[in-house]
Amino acid sequence: MLYAQVVLPLAQPPYTFSFDEGLAVRVGDAVVVQFGSSRYYTGIVWSISEHRPDYPRLKPILRRLYSAPLLTPAMQRLWEWIADYYICSLGEVMRVALPSLAKPSATSLQELEERSIAPPTERYVRLSAELQHEEALADYNAKHSRRAPRRCATLDKIGAIALTRGGLNSSIPRRLIDAESEHIAALERLGLVHTEHRPAEPIRTLGDVLLPTLSEAQHRALELIHAAHRDSLVALLHGVTGSGKTEIYIHLIAETLASGRDVVMLVPEIVITSQLVERLERIFEGRTTTYHSRLTALRRGETFLRLSGSSGGELIVGVRSSIFLPTHKLGLIIVDEEHDANYKQSDLAPRYNARDTAVYIAHACNAQVVLGSATPSLESYMNALAGKYAYVELSERWGDGVLPEIIVSDTIRAVKRGERKTHFNLELLQNITRSLEAGDQAILFQNRRGYSPYVQCRTCGFSPRCPRCNVTLTKHKASSRMECHYCGYNEPVTTVCPNCETQDMALMGFGTEKVVEEITHLFPEAHVDRLDGDTSTSESAFKRIVHRFEARETDILVGTQIITKGFDFEGVSTVGILNADNLLSQPDFRASERAFQLMMQVSGRAGRHNDRGRVVIQTSQPKHPVIQYVASGDYRAMALTELEERRAFSYPPYSRLVRLLMHHADYELLRRAAHHVAELLRAKFPSGVMGPVASALEMLRGQYRAEILVKVDTGSSMSRAREHIRHVIAEVAKINDIKSVRVDVDVDAL
Ligand code: ADP
Ligand code: ZN
Repeated sequence: MLYAQVVLPLAQPPYTFSFDEGLAVRVGDAVVVQFGSSRYYTGIVWSISEHRPDYPRLKPILRRLYSAPLLTPAMQRLWEWIADYYICSLGEVMRVALPSLAKPSATSLQELEERSIAPPTERYVRLSAELQHEEALADYNAKHSRRAPRRCATLDKIGAIALTRGGLNSSIPRRLIDAESEHIAALERLGLVHTEHRPAEPIRTLGDVLLPTLSEAQHRALELIHAAHRDSLVALLHGVTGSGKTEIYIHLIAETLASGRDVVMLVPEIVITSQLVERLERIFEGRTTTYHSRLTALRRGETFLRLSGSSGGELIVGVRSSIFLPTHKLGLIIVDEEHDANYKQSDLAPRYNARDTAVYIAHACNAQVVLGSATPSLESYMNALAGKYAYVELSERWGDGVLPEIIVSDTIRAVKRGERKTHFNLELLQNITRSLEAGDQAILFQNRRGYSPYVQCRTCGFSPRCPRCNVTLTKHKASSRMECHYCGYNEPVTTVCPNCETQDMALMGFGTEKVVEEITHLFPEAHVDRLDGDTSTSESAFKRIVHRFEARETDILVGTQIITKGFDFEGVSTVGILNADNLLSQPDFRASERAFQLMMQVSGRAGRHNDRGRVVIQTSQPKHPVIQYVASGDYRAMALTELEERRAFSYPPYSRLVRLLMHHADYELLRRAAHHVAELLRAKFPSGVMGPVASALEMLRGQYRAEILVKVDTGSSMSRAREHIRHVIAEVAKINDIKSVRVDVDVDAL
């Protein structure tokens, strides 16, 4: 008998199971075990030992899945690093790393097996032995080309592809041959080709890749990135919007693939970046794997298995969890829009940041890293200032592109002068008119969806709130209901105040739905469309809206954050930011950085192809430093000022933040537990504990929430800090009175 420590997809440490040597279980294997009284799970063998642990009842491993281990030693180290750094269990890492295996817990073995995933197979075609010589193939075609031209053309095609893949005797994937199934079947009946189904193998040779010719500035940037990589430094590519960072990525990808190594390119969101992804798929045809959470568990599982069997030279383009996909020889990781908050998983453990994880893996695998952004995170920028990262700057747009003109438009002055209609300053309206008259398009950005963010009684000030989440309800006109944007709770719109019963409820603020209504009224002849969470609930709906805008069927596109990322539209010459005050007043120490990033990204949509685009920023604080930095496009000034402030208050990147989140339906119990945790933490971190406070969302889905922030000095040991925190959590779990309160940990919380 041997004993295996098996990681199960649960928030628990690994469990030990026994197995007979005959089962030939290896470290990294996926196995099926029974756990609890009646459930079966797929788990990963973490280690194997000959010593029987002294538990009375050890259960056996029931099955081994797949012929090869699923997890390489390198991946095991990665999981361990994540579990340690982000303070979670290996089972929680398994849930994001192997989502397709984490699900199948089942009540019977049979049920589990029915759901198990087979490695994807593919149909391969090979010329028959007689035709595997060039003369023989030529002879055959010469003889038959009159009577059977199509057959000869197909054989020729197969021969040509086979030659690029090692010779006329090589098998080629059926999907590369453009012919109907019956046609291939007929060739097989004639004994001219053989076909077979077998596990898919990657395409090895890199065909002709059409690389864009780089401008001089791009070429210099590429050289600097090469130099950084020779020095084993992460390269931070800071390139203004439209500078052509993508073209540089394409060169780096091509170089890496040509050397037989793998590339992982992370994007913040797959649908939003579809233009980029489609472009990469076209260029690196046949070797690009896209990976995101909209794929079915089956597809994700197949992707994992196929990549496990690959021998290198793969391009993976995907969202943050792609970082867990197996690679054979990792050569390069690109993190596009590295500042994006989507790289951090915040809602569930493991609360990992894929950008930081990328830097870790690349270091462990001796691979290279490029972090790209038009507005780098202050964390990365500080690393560049400190010389830890190589800083590569592209400060001009590619070609004749010029950065847009930024117009700061004072809303208060506009009201005073009577130069404002509903939510638009005349200055913005004039620019929209100018664009439309020139046959161009406009984008209007407002970071709230719905009609009115909240409804308020003019008599008593009461605002309807979500009974479960305690945030104000947003009015949606289309559904004529008020909706909670956290949990979806909704109720009919009231005209009578539920509090004082007067009939004086007013709509406050404005969301995208209202913007559309007002702008349609002001420009009745224009085609207006809306892109936000409500209109793009499915990928196809999203793509329809984008496509209509691309085809210039839409003149004015109104949208939320969604429109800020990665879009490259030719016709946009005016961009309006309707309410910058909103962005500046977020209760968050990162508010300035975020507001700057967002406004720069939105601005980046203007005039990418026109002579010069215009961005109109509406604000009541035109002198606000962040607005000024956006107006002058001065990232460096913003970053230095902001870093100075962070240093003064010891916020990241001058400290590390660990957020402890606790929730419970019993308010009193939660309060007691939170105070106890804070007290235990204060003993270890005398000056660095803030809270407990009610979370920004005091109540979510019927649970009260409290949070504690721990600031760990960058000078002191982070691993010691994590140990303290783990210890405190373990202590709390022992106290009967409060142990039902769960403590979630968010290391490097955003
Ligand atoms: P970024 O990602 O830095 O915002 P893009 O890579 O999207 O910029 O480039 C902006 C535009 O300029 C795109 O339309 C792109 O096709 C074009 N472009 C940039 N560099 C080149 C190049 N070297 N050759 C051809 N077109 C380029
Ligand atoms: Zn709610």
